[in-house]
Amino acid sequence: MSAIARFRPILAVLALLGLAIGLAWASARTLAALGKWLGIDTPDGNLIAGLGVGTSEAIAAAILAGVVVLEIATRGFAASTPGRITRSLRPTHRSDLFFALAAVTALSPMIALIGTLGAGMAIRQAIDPSAGWRLSADWPLWLAVPATFVLGDFLAYWVHRALHRDAMWPLHAIHHAARDLTPMTAARGHPIDDFLVNLPGPVVALLLGAPEHAVLSVQIAVFVHSAVSHSSLPFPLWLERGLLAGPRLHRVHHGVRREDHDHNFAILPAWDLLFGTYRLEPGAPPPSGVEDPRYDTGNPPRDLVVATAIWIGGLASMAGSAIRAGRAIARRATTSIRPAETPAGTGR
Ligand SMILES: [Zn+2]
Ligand SMILES: [Zn+2]
Repeated sequence: MSAIARFRPILAVLALLGLAIGLAWASARTLAALGKWLGIDTPDGNLIAGLGVGTSEAIAAAILAGVVVLEIATRGFAASTPGRITRSLRPTHRSDLFFALAAVTALSPMIALIGTLGAGMAIRQAIDPSAGWRLSADWPLWLAVPATFVLGDFLAYWVHRALHRDAMWPLHAIHHAARDLTPMTAARGHPIDDFLVNLPGPVVALLLGAPEHAVLSVQIAVFVHSAVSHSSLPFPLWLERGLLAGPRLHRVHHGVRREDHDHNFAILPAWDLLFGTYRLEPGAPPPSGVEDPRYDTGNPPRDLVVATAIWIGGLASMAGSAIRAGRAIARRATTSIRPAETPAGTGR
């Protein structure tokens, strides 16, 4: 028994690695089959298929590792993510490591990236390009990339705001539950949340005719930005004043209190400034996390299941209240009709 107990952590790591490799293989095969079924057979389509079967894991791993190395170089080991994790491995770190492992095995959020890009390409192929959808087909890359980025961030801003509404918060809270932000928190998210936030930008850009490689490069840039804004890298204050959100603005967004986390939704602070949701805290950031103790327990698969159940339960109770309200309106309408009918019937 004691020998098994001694080897249990090693067995757990091996089992986790085996599971990760198995899932990566299954997701790659599924993506390749899906691409074939959708008939994506262009040079860009092949690029996407190629990313699905291996490169996306490498990109995600390189981005996360790169930001961590920069943290160590600029902040020193003790203040960096590996320094904090080795000093005290908290449940929040275990969750971040789980989601980072999922990201580097092409599951999430890269799977959402490729899934949405694939969806966009499939929709675009279904619509006749000569029908006038491909407005930006001849746009040069130097214009297509920034235009795709600005458009995608505008759409993601509104999706992100919607994810903060009561109906969607139980899913989005998985991302917000991190109590210590690390670059790996960028990968932490419910798959439905990842899919919804990644969907509109690429789909609309592709429908407007943006080249696939422009859309893909923007999605990779978005992931780099996310890793940086969850890190403890030094970030110029002047950039966060209106040009580009960074760790300072994003830490306010991760505040436990609603009056904090309902701010700074976009990568480009211009959208938050324009729609009244911008907040800069030059001092110490508010504590991160969510109040609900059912999140960030250190057991992310269970947290995902619980979050999904809370979300479905919430939607069901909202639908129940809507039905009850509808019935009450219908009842009031019938009773307000009756008095008019009654004198006519009983007065004679
Ligand atoms: Zn949020
Ligand atoms: Zn975040």
